Order: sequence, then structure tokens, then C-alpha cells
Amino acid sequence: MKATVIGVGTELLVGHTQDTNTAELAADLLESGAEVEVSFRVADELEPLVRELAHALRHHDLVVTTGGLGPTPDDLTREAVARAIGAPLVADEAMLEKIRAFFDRMGRPMPEANRRQAMRPRGAEWIENPRGTAPGFLWQGGGKTLLALPGPPEEWRPMWEEAKRRLGLSKKPRYRKVLKTFGLGESQLAEILGPLFAEVGSYAKPWGVELVVHDEDLVKKIRKKLKGKIWGEDEDTLAGLVHRRLLAEGKTLAVMESVTGGLVAELLTEVPGASRTFRGGMVSYTREAKARFGVPEEVLEAHGQVSAPTARAMAEAARRLLDADFGLAVTGVAGPEALEGHPVGTVFVGLATDRGSWARPYRFPDQGRERVRLRAAYAALAYFWSEA
Ligand code: ATP
Ligand code: MG
Repeated sequence: MKATVIGVGTELLVGHTQDTNTAELAADLLESGAEVEVSFRVADELEPLVRELAHALRHHDLVVTTGGLGPTPDDLTREAVARAIGAPLVADEAMLEKIRAFFDRMGRPMPEANRRQAMRPRGAEWIENPRGTAPGFLWQGGGKTLLALPGPPEEWRPMWEEAKRRLGLSKKPRYRKVLKTFGLGESQLAEILGPLFAEVGSYAKPWGVELVVHDEDLVKKIRKKLKGKIWGEDEDTLAGLVHRRLLAEGKTLAVMESVTGGLVAELLTEVPGASRTFRGGMVSYTREAKARFGVPEEVLEAHGQVSAPTARAMAEAARRLLDADFGLAVTGVAGPEALEGHPVGTVFVGLATDRGSWARPYRFPDQGRERVRLRAAYAALAYFWSEA
């Protein structure tokens, strides 16, 4: 079944009201197995509304609208639907009494304008609105279905459930697995996965590209092709995995951060119970701070603040100062200016263990300070995940 969702309201076009209805309904329709390729917004104007509704009905089996069912003259959905399906609007005395009763319960007289809400296109059935005055309606004809719902989410949600019952639409829980990768861009992933890439959704996040897969066999194939590049799935976070891993081994971690200014510590301490594995850290933002926290003067002199040897020395110093099993460090250039001849986006992550210390260079695109800092912080955690 092909379905589309239309948000009615001029304020939606200009963003005065954020149109969340169309996304929420489209997501629900997709989960119910409908095919949704298009959703859109239309202003409170009769001619475009009639035109777009008619067009939508030609191309879809089900058209769902929200908004424009209020009592005021700018609420035109009723009128536009009637014209688009070629049926007159008819008044319904029983519905008028219900609307009047709604006002009675609120202790107010019903304004004359609300009479309009008791009008529906001939042939349509009501979907009652237990939470407001604007009822919705469901029309079916010529193999097509149109459902008109009011705008406020708390009003239309129960009505939508009722309409789904009548239409026999039920959610088929769809298999969904998110695979979280690090270290590969989307184009590299496309290359490695070949034709499989077209079957997944890919989303670039600061913690790496996430792949959304809707088929169990496909998950197996992708895991095989991306061995060592997938760090987690679904609700996993890098900091959470680092914490779990340290907890399992009864080990601890300390950090020293320059370019990230504490972001790594922030991510690590977001995890409940972090104090059992995370000892703490230092923000060694200046050369002087690095030296005072124990980075040897010779290393700074010979290699500068942004270098692999300095990242290693920072990790070693953090480990030593806080008596931790592991030290993790990050230094780099967030911009806007280059530093020590290194372009913006240059980052080094250092790791110190009881078996020795290492460092790795990264080069992120200059997408602004915030983005570089975030990616550096996640790179540090991902490096720990893959190397520690
Ligand atoms: P009412 O009787 O309340 O006027 P209505 O069917 O005429 O109902 P609208 O006037 O279009 O609905 O919108 C009423 C309210 O519903 C808006 O002020 C807004 O808060 C919310 N709303 C409308 N459309 C959307 C949308 N697409 N996404 C999110 N909220 C919406
Ligand atoms: Mg309105």
C-alpha cells in the first residue's frame, strides 16, 4: 500500500510550528508496512490544498492529513477534501450535539463558528476526537482512502489508533539492527560493502558511520566484511563499552586532554558508575600545563605539542599521575588557526599500558572547531576500544 502524509498549515511552511506530525505518521506507516515515499506541507489556501490533495489521491492508496480542521475560516481541510473527492459537505446534527456537549463540559457556550466542525464530505465517516472539538474523518472511494486528522499531536494520536483499527493497519515489528563503525568514511564503506551498501541506511555521526540494517542475514554478511571496524550495535556507546571492558578486567583509566578540553572525560563520566573504572584526568591545554603534568621537556622541544611522541608522553603521564592501568591522551588542532604547522583537523591519540605506549595520527576535515573536537574525543575512545 502506497501512503503519503500531508501537514496542512501556513505556519508549517515557514517553521513557526515545527512539522513533527508528518514524520511521526510516516514512521508509523512504515512500521505498519506501508510504502511511504513522499510527505509534504501545504499552506492554508483552498486552491493549492485541493490541487495537492487530488494529486496525492491519484498517486497513493492512502492519504493522511493533519491540521486545518479548526473552526476558523482559515481551516480549510474539510472544504478542500470535499472538492478533491468531488463530494458535497454535509452537516451532521448528531456530531453538532457532541461538539456542543464538549463545550458544555468546559462550561462555555459553543461559538457559532464551531458549527463548521460538524460538516463532513458526503460518504466520509467520523473519527471522534475525545480530546478536542475537531473531529476527524475517514473517506474511502474508488480504492482510495483519505484520513483527515486535527493538528495537535495529543488530539490526533488516539484518533490515528482508531483509524488504524478500522483500516486493519497493524504494526509488524520490523527487524532493525544498527551497526556502529569507526575509522571508515561512507564512501570507503560503500567500496568495501559493494552491492550490500545499497541495502543499508548509512548515517555519519561524530562516533563513526552507523549502518541501519533490516535483515538478519545481511547483518551477518556485513559483520564479516567489516571485521574489526564495527565497535558496537544499537544502544551501545563507545564510553559505555570502554567502561564495561575495564570493569570486566578490574582495570582503570586516566586521561590527559589538550584539544578536546575535557570532552573525553565528559563522555566517560556520562556512564553511570564511571568512578569504578575512570580515575580522572587533566586538561593540559597549554605547553606549560603539559610540562607540569609530566610531559618531558625534551619531547615537547623535539616534537612540539601536536605530535605522536607528545600524545604518548601525555598518556604515560596521566597513567602515572593517577595510578591507572591505562592512560589515554589526545592532542591536536581544532582551529580556526593551524598550529605548529599542522592544519586544522590534525589529531594524535596516545595510549599507555603496562605493556608500553603507542600513538596514532588522525586527520579530520575542517568542519569547524566543535566538530573537530567531538571527532577527536570519539577517536580517542575508539582507539582505546581497538588497541587497549
Ligand atoms: P484546532 O481545532 O486546534 O485549530 P486544527 O485541526 O485546525 O485544530 P491546526 O489549527 O492546523 O489544527 O493546528 C493546531 C495546533 O496543532 C498547532 O498550533 C500546532 O501546535 C499543532 N500542529 C498542527 N500541525 C502540526 C504539525 N504538522 N506538526 C506538529 N504540530 C502541529
Ligand atoms: Mg486551527
